[in-house]
Amino acid sequence: MYWVKLLSQEVKAEAENPYEVALKQLKLASEIANIDQWILDMLSVPKKIIQVSVPVKMDDGRLEVFTGYRVQHNDARGPYKGGIRYHQMVTLDEVKALAMWMTWKTAVADLPYGGAKGGIVVDPKKLSAGEVERLTRRYAAMIADEIGPYKDIPAPDVNTGPQTMAWIMDTYSAIKGYSVPEVVTGKPLSVGGSYGRTEATGRGVSICTREAARIKGLKLQGATVAVQGFGNVGYYAAHILSKEMGAKIVAVSDSSTTLYSPQGIDPDKALEHKEKHGELKGYEGGEVIEPAELFSLPVDVIIPAAVEGQINKRVADGIQAKIIVEGANGPTDTDADEVLREKNVLVVPDILANSGGVIVSYFEWLQNLHRESWDLSLVNSKLEEKMVGAFNEVLKTSQRHSTTMRLGALVLGVGKVADTIKTLGLFP
Ligand code: NAD
Repeated sequence: MYWVKLLSQEVKAEAENPYEVALKQLKLASEIANIDQWILDMLSVPKKIIQVSVPVKMDDGRLEVFTGYRVQHNDARGPYKGGIRYHQMVTLDEVKALAMWMTWKTAVADLPYGGAKGGIVVDPKKLSAGEVERLTRRYAAMIADEIGPYKDIPAPDVNTGPQTMAWIMDTYSAIKGYSVPEVVTGKPLSVGGSYGRTEATGRGVSICTREAARIKGLKLQGATVAVQGFGNVGYYAAHILSKEMGAKIVAVSDSSTTLYSPQGIDPDKALEHKEKHGELKGYEGGEVIEPAELFSLPVDVIIPAAVEGQINKRVADGIQAKIIVEGANGPTDTDADEVLREKNVLVVPDILANSGGVIVSYFEWLQNLHRESWDLSLVNSKLEEKMVGAFNEVLKTSQRHSTTMRLGALVLGVGKVADTIKTLGLFP
């Protein structure tokens, strides 16, 4: 309890800057886990920050220069691992925070990886397909010396996907002179992608929802769920929860609209509409409500699966759900965390809840290194085992320290990384 209070008070002032939040979380977790000061000093800063200015020839003949980053936070447990995001709001501090969270995420899932993240400051929706390809290939070429199958393995994130990974793989392979599928994960199946990778994060979110319901004594069959963000993570979580686990999706949203239907919304029909029209807007499967209303609906479970900073104190005050499963990275601010703890809402934190993606990325990397292809049922059963194992370890850690699952996950992740650093010692 004490730690949660402290977390809330200490991070309050800087809640806006994700890197400051990440640093405060690290400090608190380190105090509980008794981490040596020299290790805390090492973990408080990324090992390497790469910044590149990426020139791209636009379709109209002009040249535009985009800023790109790759931040490598820590690689004590294995090669750096983390997605690349394309967004007009990308900042260095955001990428630094996401890289640090990746270090904890891979440790919580017990993967032999460290943490990294990449980003380009760009709104890819304003670029043609050819411009996005040229941007991706030039960025890949500019960071080619810093990535590699045993060094740093990128993956997709917001506004990047399998095609982006295929271009990075092809560019990297062209530079090396031979095919290197294991340099990136989240690739299309035709170039070494894994079965089950596309839906892996949503599947992991669904598994966490099922486990959280079990702890809360909530029957998932018929339980009501609201999903914010109907993209890769949100759609697959909604699909698996409703079609495989018997839950009822009653609200979905994307950046164009928010829909509510107490009778239930079929995620597959909603997806069909989204694919046809490019957005959920206009889908007639539910009543249109205000975006913020999604969080105060009388539902059992809320899945934020859009972007950071969606649940603040005011939003948390209105939440009626018993469970929140964070599909997105950083959707809840620390003031809101405290409110949710007081209301006894079970929050399954991002570094656990959305780790299904990096877990199946690890399986993809293993398959590539061995030039193997696993079938879908093998991938899914291994994912199930890893997710449930991580969930139970986080739960045990949070119970041991009488704290939330968020701080439990951080203590577990930071503790594992610190143990490795201590055992390795320092060169020279
Ligand atoms: P995506 O681009 O496929 O989908 C995002 C969706 O959120 C879109 O439908 C968009 O319209 C919607 N959205 C954006 N802002 C919104 C708002 N304010 N309100 C409602 N909807 C909004 O992205 P994604 O891959 O599904 O990622 C979503 C989140 O999950 C991100 O935080 C990402 O970092 C995290 N995540 C993704 C993966 C993965 O494997 N894709 C893995 C781990 C974490």
